[in-house]
Amino acid sequence: MKTHHSHEAPSHRVGRGTQGSTGVARRTSAPSSRTASPGKAERKTAGEPALLTLPPLPYGEDALVPVISARTIGFHYGKHQKTYVDTLNELIGGTDFAGQPLEAIIEATARKADKAAIFNNAAQAWNHTFYWHCLTPIGGGEPEGALGEQLGSAFGGFDKFKKEFAETAVAQFGSGWAWLVAQGGRLKVIKTSNAETPFVDGQTPLLAIDVWEHAYYLDYQNRRVDYVNALIDKLLNWEFAAENFANV
Ligand code: MN
Repeated sequence: MKTHHSHEAPSHRVGRGTQGSTGVARRTSAPSSRTASPGKAERKTAGEPALLTLPPLPYGEDALVPVISARTIGFHYGKHQKTYVDTLNELIGGTDFAGQPLEAIIEATARKADKAAIFNNAAQAWNHTFYWHCLTPIGGGEPEGALGEQLGSAFGGFDKFKKEFAETAVAQFGSGWAWLVAQGGRLKVIKTSNAETPFVDGQTPLLAIDVWEHAYYLDYQNRRVDYVNALIDKLLNWEFAAENFANV
């Protein structure tokens, strides 16, 4: 996997598609977004800002079975995340945000009540791309190296970290996310509501768990705890977390 800046999800502008991506992944949102906002037609054909795109999944839709079904990934990625990207393109079309990097849009709209719709869709687009990379069919286990040592000292052992991560994810009331973040050289587990994302607060995300019901309800119904524990035990991508940690 390529190295990313720690606060950057893989690009929303250029699909990398190096691993088994789906047909859905290669589609861009361009046609529907253009035709959906005919009233904002001042944009020139040449030099028009590029639309943000839905990056490819880093694996096939069935790669995370049996922990997460292909049906869940199909809806979650192909419908939910795609809608965030499409809606964002419609919202920013013809504005100063058009053509800006996703991270810049998120930073500029965080906690601004009149920009909440842009923030929510932009942050959800970012959070989901980050989340897909936090999972891998060969995941789970325990990290080695500097991250493993830091987890041990920050939480009193890897098992205690896992327990705190799972409890935090289960405790998030309603929709949101659980995160392992680094801030000021310290590792912390936090939760955020709805689309909120830690990097706007100077926290570097290392790992994320989506606890919106759409992430698990088809497979686990109300048993969020079972989804969270299975994900932590079998899917967490510690190689990705270590790359993020190395860039702090
Ligand atoms: Mn989600």
